[in-house]
Amino acid sequence: MTLKILIVGGGGREHALAWKIAQSPLVDTLFAAPGNPGIARHARCVDIGVDAHDELVAFARRERIDLTVIGPEAPLVAGLADRFAAAGLAVFGPSARAAAIEGSKAFSKDLMRRHGIPTARFATFDDIGGARRFCREMGAPLVVKADGLAAGKGAIVCATLEEADAAIAECMERRAFGAAGSRVVVEEFMIGQEISWFVLSNGGDVMTLAAAEDHKAVFDGDRGPNTGGMGCYSPVAVFDEALEKRVMETIVRPTLAALAGEGAPYHGVLYVGLMLTAQGPKVVEFNCRFGDPECQALMVRAPGDLVPLLRAAAGADAWPPAHPWPGTASVCVNIASGGYPGKYPTGLPIRGVEAAGARPGVQVFHAGTATKNGTLVTAGGRVLGVTAVAESMDAAIAAAYAAVHEISFEGMHYRTDIGRRRA
Ligand code: AMP
Repeated sequence: MTLKILIVGGGGREHALAWKIAQSPLVDTLFAAPGNPGIARHARCVDIGVDAHDELVAFARRERIDLTVIGPEAPLVAGLADRFAAAGLAVFGPSARAAAIEGSKAFSKDLMRRHGIPTARFATFDDIGGARRFCREMGAPLVVKADGLAAGKGAIVCATLEEADAAIAECMERRAFGAAGSRVVVEEFMIGQEISWFVLSNGGDVMTLAAAEDHKAVFDGDRGPNTGGMGCYSPVAVFDEALEKRVMETIVRPTLAALAGEGAPYHGVLYVGLMLTAQGPKVVEFNCRFGDPECQALMVRAPGDLVPLLRAAAGADAWPPAHPWPGTASVCVNIASGGYPGKYPTGLPIRGVEAAGARPGVQVFHAGTATKNGTLVTAGGRVLGVTAVAESMDAAIAAAYAAVHEISFEGMHYRTDIGRRRA
C-alpha cells in the first residue's frame, strides 16, 4: 500500500504524529498543514491554516489524500472531520457532534449524568445569580468552568466562595473566554491523582493506547499559573491492569456507547482526563484529540506502525492485531519562552537543537518555532518538547534533561521536575 497522508496542525503534538507516521512503510507521501520547521523534516508543509476548512478539503481532494489526521480540537469542534467525510475522504478525528464531548462541558457533563458515568457533581448555568446560589449550596472548594473551548484555561479552581464569585464574573460578565464563557458549569472539587488515558475508537470498538501524566503548572512543585502543559511522562505506575479494566468498564465503554446511541459515533482518539479519587476513578474532562504534550510522550513509546490504527479508527479498515506496549518509559520536557504563560517575545534564535536530538533515545519536537533567514527562531509560548524514551523512568528523565541542557535561547524556561511526581 502506498498512502498519501495529510496531518492538520502545526504544534508539538503534530510533530510527534508526523515523526511516527513518517516511519510507516505504508506511507508514500506525508503532508502537513500548516506544519512547522520540525515537521518539515518528515513532511511537505503546505501553507494552509487549521481553520481554512474549504482549502483543506480542496487540497485533500486535489492531492487524492488517503487519510487526513486532524491534530487540534478547534477544527474538530468546528466540524472539519464532517467536511472531509462529506467529501468522501477518510479522516482521523470525530465529527462535530462527537467532538462536543470536549467542545461543550455542559454537553459532556449531561451525557455523563444521563449514562451514570462517574464524574464530579455539577450544574450548568446561563445566569450569574443561579451559578452563585449553586456555589453556596455546594460550598468551597469548587471549580467554575467555561462551557466552550478556552485553550485549556477555562477551568478555574476556587478555594473560597469569593473566588467562585470572581470566576463567574470573569466568565459571564467580563467574558474572559468570549462566547465560550456565556454558560458555565459549576462542579465539585475532586481530590486525587490526575492522569490522562488514551484510547482509539472506530465508532464501535476501542483499541487502548497508554496513560500519561501531564504537569500543567508553570513552575516546579506545581506552583504558578496553569499552562497548556510544561511536560509529561508515560506510563503511569498507578494505572495498572485492574484500574485500566475498571476505567474501560465504568467510563470509556459506556461513554462511547452513549455517543453512538445518541447518533454521534466516535472516530478518533478519546483523551480521558481522570481523577483517581477515594471513591474510584472519575472523569475530569474528555478531549477529542491527543494531548499536547502527552502525544509526544506516547509516540516515542508506541509499538509498531501507527498508520493501520489511524486508518481503522477512521473507519477505512479493520483494526490490526493489537501490539502490547513495551515496558519503556518516556518523558517530555517543554521548553517555553520567557514570560509564558503570560506575554512573551518571539523571533529569538535557538541553539543546540541538532545536538540535543542526536542524543540516544531523544526526539526534539517543535511546538512554537519558525525559520528566519535560515535560522531557527522562537515563534510561540511553548517552543520545543524535548522527549526521551529509555528502559526506565529515571533513565528517560536523565536523557531528556541532558538534551534540554544542550539547547539555549534568550529567556527560555522549563520545569526541572518533570516525571518526578510519580507515585
Ligand atoms: P479541564 O479544563 O476541565 O481539564 O480542567 C483543567 C484542570 O483543572 C484539570 O486538569 C484539573 O487539574 C483541574 N480541575 C478541573 N476540574 C476539576 C475538579 N472537579 N476537581 C479538581 N480539579 C479539577
